[in-house]
Amino acid sequence: MTRSLARSNAQFRRASTRLPLGVASNFRYWGDDRTIYIKRGRGGRIWDLDDNPYIDYRLGYGPAILGYADPRVDEAARQGMDIGGVFALSTEREFTVAERIAKMMPAAELVRFSNSGTEAVMAALRLARAYTGKESYVLVEGSYHGLFDAAMWLVALDDWDPSRTDREPAVMPYSQGVPEAVRPLVHLTPMNDANRLEDLLRRKSHEIAAMLIEPIMGNCCGITADIAYVRAVRELCDRYGVLLIIDEVKSGFRVARGGTQELMGVTADITTVAKAMANGYPIAAIGGREDIMRRYGRGVAHGGTYTAHSVALAAAEKTLEILDETAALETIAAYGRRLQAGIKRILDARGVVHCFAGHPSMGGLFFAATPPRDYRDWKRSDYSFYDALARELHEEGVLCEPDSREPWFICEAHDDSCLAETLAGFERAVDRTL
Ligand code: PLP
Repeated sequence: MTRSLARSNAQFRRASTRLPLGVASNFRYWGDDRTIYIKRGRGGRIWDLDDNPYIDYRLGYGPAILGYADPRVDEAARQGMDIGGVFALSTEREFTVAERIAKMMPAAELVRFSNSGTEAVMAALRLARAYTGKESYVLVEGSYHGLFDAAMWLVALDDWDPSRTDREPAVMPYSQGVPEAVRPLVHLTPMNDANRLEDLLRRKSHEIAAMLIEPIMGNCCGITADIAYVRAVRELCDRYGVLLIIDEVKSGFRVARGGTQELMGVTADITTVAKAMANGYPIAAIGGREDIMRRYGRGVAHGGTYTAHSVALAAAEKTLEILDETAALETIAAYGRRLQAGIKRILDARGVVHCFAGHPSMGGLFFAATPPRDYRDWKRSDYSFYDALARELHEEGVLCEPDSREPWFICEAHDDSCLAETLAGFERAVDRTL
């Protein structure tokens, strides 16, 4: 079977004359003849220009947690529109949304808003530097914290041989244009290795302002920190005078009302949230300990023309109310568990070795016997089988990311019919892949 992408292909050719790669974000380019253009989304489904339907497990990289075009959120956003947009002055809702965030995520004693996850993490890192008077920082290998220079560093696994434990992978910028001047400020450490972190902090804590971590890696197979590791990270940060920034841009208000911090019983000094907080409207927030957050306005710059835009803020108010006060998150997790159980039945019946990582609401599917404990483990999995399977799933109208490092995102609108169709499509896709 082959879906027709004739209209998407034509749109690609047209769009390429005005937009590099024909798209608004590099990540949306899937190849000249495979790039999909979307007409609309409703609930857990989207339709492309050729009217091909998809059950969508990407959800815009996570935000559409209640489903696309949720009428409750969209009505609130319309009311936000009536207010007028942006005024370069504050509105009342900033307080009510900050109150809700603080209730759901107690680490966020005080809150500031921004427009995207990138901006929020950038602001958090600046705040940590100002507070500690230090400049470098620790990132976990395989993490993604946004597009700004400080965050765009990776360990290069392409040329790395996983059987060579004596050779470390190279540290590289994600992109051309990231200044080499940033390199000395970046320290990368593998997930779940407290000894490595302790060794680093023992040697370098005099220059390290912050450790950034996503305890469930929303961009890297859902690799999950052991609770013991997260607690060790907290303890080491305290011992060495390093601030702990927990990036809950993907996990916040999704894996639990209070994100990974609620699940794992750990409290960040500074937390960043975005995606799920407004069901797709562009807003993010930085929350943190009062003594740290009060540095804003006392020498630490923070702002932005569109910050706390009345439409996005109204959408956030309604989305967070729903996530906090209804059983939406429980429904989402239950769907994720049923989806994983169904996938497991299909793969077990065919003897395909696999496992899941992360959380049922953002779970990574991994072709190896045990879940990855760090990014290097991903290299040990059969990711090329995943890549081939993803193509077949797309043919079946089941839309996961073509890259196995992106987990499957679940929304409240994924219902029984989505589940049944997904599993039927999954079974056919696996049989064609094997
Ligand atoms: N932090 C994490 C954990 C993310 O997953 C992302 C984006 O996927 C970001 C930060 C950057 O957010 P944005 O794309 O809204 O700038």
